[in-house]
Amino acid sequence: MLGLFSKYVYLGAAQRRLFQHGPAILTYHRIGKAPPGAPDPFLYDTARELDAHLTRAQEAGLKLVSLGEAVHQGNLRQGCLAVTFDDGCVSVLQEALPVLQKHKVRAIQFIVSGRIGGLNDWDLSKNDVPERLMDKEQIRDWLAAGMEIGSHSHSHRNLRKLKSSEAREEIFGSKARLEDVFGVAIHHFAFPYGGWRRSEVRDLVKQSGYESAVTTAFGVGSASADLTREAGYQSACTADFGVSMDGAELWSLRRITPLTGPELVHKVFHRLMRKVRGL
Ligand SMILES: [Zn+2]
Repeated sequence: MLGLFSKYVYLGAAQRRLFQHGPAILTYHRIGKAPPGAPDPFLYDTARELDAHLTRAQEAGLKLVSLGEAVHQGNLRQGCLAVTFDDGCVSVLQEALPVLQKHKVRAIQFIVSGRIGGLNDWDLSKNDVPERLMDKEQIRDWLAAGMEIGSHSHSHRNLRKLKSSEAREEIFGSKARLEDVFGVAIHHFAFPYGGWRRSEVRDLVKQSGYESAVTTAFGVGSASADLTREAGYQSACTADFGVSMDGAELWSLRRITPLTGPELVHKVFHRLMRKVRGL
């Protein structure tokens, strides 16, 4: 729910200033109410919340675009917002699609190519609740509705911890498989966990022909970082909103989780308690 402090967090003054530097790429996972006992309730947003996020974005003057338009030909567009969903959950097709169509936004779902029609087994090993993932027919329905798909690797392992040959297979293999099965070009990749922090993995994503790759790091992709690199620097940092934008390039784009004020406080507390309990 949009609470008392919402205007100071999601699309508050600080975030709007941030969005002047690059595209706002929203990240979602599951659509619906978090079931009791879900270890990470922040993976859930209801369709109403999604609707409110998109409405407020347009009211704030942001243009809703596809991820491809946000990063078109290497230019990271400012003042626009793209919508992404990780994992390929059925709940997104069932609950989010009408909202996306209402707002005329072309969203992208990142599919785990080796788990199509299966479950989020990578989460289940951490006592998470099962979440159904779209099967081939459902993915075809998603595409037929004008939406896009990208790759979220083949088996959702942390690419930072894999041998180079395994990481290569996750990145190249998932792209080839999705293109083969669905007959569409796969232009975008989403890193499971923090795999993007390994430069070798980012290079593999680049070599495999993806136009962009998104991370779970907070912030916006900044065009200035690309310019800085072209000028010969290895990386660039800014202190805007306390968010470092180093490595903000096409193959490690930052994203935003839309949170209201109370949700942000709750999330920080929740993460802290999990750390304290050693989870
Ligand atoms: Zn994921």
